[in-house]
Amino acid sequence: MNREFSQLNPGKRYLMGPGPSDMHQRVYQAMSAPLVGHLDPYFQQVMEETKDLLRYVFQTKNEWTIPISATGSAGMETCFTNLIEPGDEVLICVGGYFGDRMAQMVERHGGKLVRIEGEWGIPFSASQVKQALDNCNASLVGIVHTETSTGVEQPVEDIAKIVHEHGGLLIVDTVASLGGTNIPVDSWEIDICYSGSQKCLSAPPGIAPVTMNERARDRILGRKTPIDSWYLDMGLLMKYWGSERSYHHTAPVSSIYALREAMLLIHEEGLENGFSRHALNYTAFKAGIDAMGLSFFVEEPYRAPMINPILAPEGIDEAKLRGRLLQDYGIEVGGGLGALKGKAFRVGLMGQCSQKDHVMLLLGALEQVLLAEGHQVQASGVSAAAIVYNS
Ligand SMILES: *Cc1c(COP(=O)(O)O)cnc(C)c1O
Repeated sequence: MNREFSQLNPGKRYLMGPGPSDMHQRVYQAMSAPLVGHLDPYFQQVMEETKDLLRYVFQTKNEWTIPISATGSAGMETCFTNLIEPGDEVLICVGGYFGDRMAQMVERHGGKLVRIEGEWGIPFSASQVKQALDNCNASLVGIVHTETSTGVEQPVEDIAKIVHEHGGLLIVDTVASLGGTNIPVDSWEIDICYSGSQKCLSAPPGIAPVTMNERARDRILGRKTPIDSWYLDMGLLMKYWGSERSYHHTAPVSSIYALREAMLLIHEEGLENGFSRHALNYTAFKAGIDAMGLSFFVEEPYRAPMINPILAPEGIDEAKLRGRLLQDYGIEVGGGLGALKGKAFRVGLMGQCSQKDHVMLLLGALEQVLLAEGHQVQASGVSAAAIVYNS
């Protein structure tokens, strides 16, 4: 090959977009630990610890709690492919980009899609779901807990009750929110829940934690038709992750080390303390954004603490703002998705990024790049956030 390659050197970044988020030094170290075989007794111990830590973050006792060896979208696909049989009616609540992805998967896996459309920026009410279920025969319902495209946090506890009253099972997407806010899978009676490694868990992308309760397991084991994916078949996967330990695929050993270490950090901090930290840093960030005279896309009561679209001021190109933040400060924020494309930028305060230093840096940097683009902020965001931290 007749070309030169430079040495890998991405430089320093602050990953304050919709994921991946910053990783702790200990997680980098875990990734560089020596490889062992995936059926090595040492790795088997790591697998057991990983499952236990997953149960801790999901707040569940579910036996079927494993990391899928692929990204969050594969977690989504695992849930739909295992639970849909051809012709099954499936209700999907679409309030943004990822709800729409769920709907696409239902159709690809042979389900009969019943779709209810929510307004972007507003969560679904339990009565909307009840009405939809009264008018169809869906026995499976999918909803996104934190819709990363809009920044809405969707209450799901009452929806789970309604789904159960109709004899159905509920799938909840917690890719963006697991580890950042309270999602007690067992006490909310979420039947099926999936997440991703790279958002509030602050591990590298490429792993999708999944948990399923006994109702979901029984439905899967009682299927009349085979699951239309070999790789994501939970029955086969549980023979690998369960006590049989029979070869299914080769677990990505280093990524599992990393996920385990990231969850160990969450365990050491304590889940509740982590939730409080996410809430505090969101509150300081909000104070800063409000003081600067900028606007959130979502009304306050519906906002998730870990991801928020901020509307670009009139006449300001949000892509230019993002470009300057990355160029001048190494800060990555996300662009707007779907209806918000070109109108908003999305700020993530996920996992290791939910820190005072990140919030203060971002607010200060934002003030400077806005000025550079010709927009004078109303007041200092940094000072307003400082008041929150000092109180
Ligand atoms: C990021 C995300 C996904 C997809 O995860 P990938 O790891 O990108 O495949 C799904 N749902 C939500 C809510 C997300 O934020």
